[in-house]
Amino acid sequence: MTEADPFAGAREAMVEFQIRARGVSDQRVLDAMRKIPRHLFVPEDLRHAAYDDRPLPIGEGQTISQPYIVAVMTEQLELSPGDRVLEIGTGSGYQAAILAELAGSVISIERLPRVAEKARQNLARAGVTGVEVVVGDGTKGYPPEAPYDAIMVTAAAPDIPKPLIDQMAEGGRLVAPVGSRDYQELIKLVKRGGGIETIPLGGVCFVPLIGQFGWQGGYSS
Ligand code: SAM
Repeated sequence: MTEADPFAGAREAMVEFQIRARGVSDQRVLDAMRKIPRHLFVPEDLRHAAYDDRPLPIGEGQTISQPYIVAVMTEQLELSPGDRVLEIGTGSGYQAAILAELAGSVISIERLPRVAEKARQNLARAGVTGVEVVVGDGTKGYPPEAPYDAIMVTAAAPDIPKPLIDQMAEGGRLVAPVGSRDYQELIKLVKRGGGIETIPLGGVCFVPLIGQFGWQGGYSS
């Protein structure tokens, strides 16, 4: 017999009132958000807030994104079970866990080694398989496994890094927050016939993407 999940009710309410009520309708995405135990991806002293309608700090100045934003970005990737997915910005590992529910394989790149190690622990504790966490500069993508059917960037970029566009498969989708350090537009790209279609999805606020094809250095701009 499995132990009762004390957060099951909070998770169901999160899906109904924060996500479905705001227009996310893909049943597979809703089911994944219902299944993955978000409270195992936040610091222990913040577990009571794991299903709140907001991002939360995860240490090292980084955050786990608001559940609604995770759902919107995931829905926009239009994932199929065999898809190969690249995520930039592992953070807590929660978004990677949701992606792994919906796709074939997920590579997730994190620039901060201690954050990456914690994410690996979170994923293992939650029983998630199918995610490989790699430490590195995700603005360069991950050429060894390219091309990808879907790419998600979960940190704010001044522009979409060119290597990521190059690593999209034909028919591939990419979702990323693009703009200043303080405010960004969520952008979706679709690669078709060698061309790129760009679809704006609305305003968001993410921590910066720092690397060769992102922002340079730390937080002072
Ligand atoms: N997807 C995460 C989750 O589910 O918890 C949230 C990501 S958090 C908003 C952004 C993450 O991107 C941080 O952990 C940060 O260290 C990482 N990051 C920033 N620049 C990066 C880069 N160039 N390559 C890889 N990770 C980067």
